[in-house]
Amino acid sequence: MYSKSTRRDILKYWASGTVIGALGSLYSGSILAAGHEPRPGPRVGGSVIRKGDSDYESWRRSMVFHRSKPDRYPDMIVQATSVEDVQAAVRYAADNNLKVTTRSGGHNALGASLRDGGVCIDVSPLNDVQIDDDRQLALTQPGTKGIQLTAQAGARGFSFPVPHCPTVGIGGFVLGGGIGLNYTARDGFAALSIEGAEIVTADGEIVMATRDENPDLYWAVRGGGPGFFGVVTRYDLKLYPTAQGILANTYILPLEELEAATQALDQLHEGKDDRVEIMAALMHSPVAPPDAPPEQSKIFIVTAYAFGDTVAESRDLLRPLARSILPRKSIALVEYEKLDFPGLYKFFTPDTPGGAHGRYGVDGVLTNEPGKIFVDVADHFRSTPSPINHVLGAYGMNLETRDDSCLSWNARHYVGAFIIWQDETQDDANFDWLDGAIPHLERYQAGRYINEVELRRHPTHIRECFTEENWRKLADARKKYDPNGVFHGYLGQV
Ligand SMILES: Cc1cc2nc3c(=O)[nH]c(=O)nc-3n(C[C@H](O)[C@H](O)[C@H](O)COP(=O)(O)OP(=O)(O)OC[C@H]3O[C@@H](n4cnc5c(N)ncnc54)[C@H](O)[C@@H]3O)c2cc1C
Repeated sequence: MYSKSTRRDILKYWASGTVIGALGSLYSGSILAAGHEPRPGPRVGGSVIRKGDSDYESWRRSMVFHRSKPDRYPDMIVQATSVEDVQAAVRYAADNNLKVTTRSGGHNALGASLRDGGVCIDVSPLNDVQIDDDRQLALTQPGTKGIQLTAQAGARGFSFPVPHCPTVGIGGFVLGGGIGLNYTARDGFAALSIEGAEIVTADGEIVMATRDENPDLYWAVRGGGPGFFGVVTRYDLKLYPTAQGILANTYILPLEELEAATQALDQLHEGKDDRVEIMAALMHSPVAPPDAPPEQSKIFIVTAYAFGDTVAESRDLLRPLARSILPRKSIALVEYEKLDFPGLYKFFTPDTPGGAHGRYGVDGVLTNEPGKIFVDVADHFRSTPSPINHVLGAYGMNLETRDDSCLSWNARHYVGAFIIWQDETQDDANFDWLDGAIPHLERYQAGRYINEVELRRHPTHIRECFTEENWRKLADARKKYDPNGVFHGYLGQV
């Protein structure tokens, strides 16, 4: 049935499914912008593209990284090349009774920056990063991609919990939470490493949000997600010393071993050091043909990273996995693979860019019972219509409600169901499959994650991203900072 996979197969496997991204930059507004003439609208250094312009549709489509382009049409796309451009665009919108959305990296699954009517401000050209060594901060503009932040921080001996896919925009990623590389040792969500944010508010003014300055805005920008009532033009992100001894263990198991494997993961998580990060997924084997029957192709893959200061330390951290039943039950494995921080992207940089060239959707839950979800959803997973679809779990986020962030839930883990396919005629089949997966996840739900929530078919899911109390507080802050409703709220919300 299965043949033993090589290390290359394992890496190719991760590359083919979970992650999907490098070619997204091919679609970015910045590339399309070259040589564009300014047009009527706000006076800005970047381009202004109005509905009806001959290149409007290519610009509109370029706002969204994947190929599920929403049928939503802003009146105007404004490319901001400076903070002053952002101010001018917001003021123009406010004066002309137009609503505003913001686009940074364009990776949001819903294409949330595209709404009907109003101004979409594309801040992707704002991608400067300044490293402040003394304060251990990266002053990061929102158009910065994760891979760029990793390179610039890394050159000074620092790292940040950047998104696992290199091309995701920091702008949307940290705003909505952000499950980044080394999340277990970084409070679970990257948003909790926002020390300050420079924000253009609805009146076009620039304000700072920190623990001391506008603390209610600071609370909201740490997790408010794609419905936030301002344009963030800079994040002051806390940096961390880069682990020097990173190792990874990867195990591929047949689905018959799923129950045993998830039980082992539950046990391994008790008392685990937070420098060990475990991700697991139900996926289609990369060494099986796309149309292979489920019993020959569907697998469970587990990767554990150890972020020790030395290789010896990381070996110790990973030893409990090597001594567990995981290697014995595996059909292929790689243990103690040495990586550096940028090298972590090799698990996630695509050689088969399913997402970038594909249609895309995701819904997920924060949970305390990821193993039960995997077992519960396994039968449904066997019937997935696309071989790239997968169910991915981020173990050990250990989230707790707190006063300095609107991120709401107490939950230890995250599990999401991802759909990625090519053919438009398969849209319904894939969304139906996702709809079928959702109840299996919700059975063990403790909360939802706003960066990976399906609102096209399930607009009510947005409410499950926040507690009642935090939802009310967010509404109060919106009223205070955007009294005339210049900014669009969450997709599907009035
Ligand atoms: C291939 C891929 C890999 C991913 N990997 C991860 C991962 O490892 N971990 C994880 O947690 N998530 C991941 N995500 C999800 C990702 O975090 C969200 O999709 C996020 O919204 C993307 O941010 P963006 O800036 O690229 O997207 P955009 O679509 O540009 O922005 C999303 C929304 O955020 C708001 N926004 C963006 N920038 C600003 C700003 N400057 N000011 C105010 N509001 C703003 C807007 O409402 C916008 O609609 C991934 C997504 C994809 C497609």
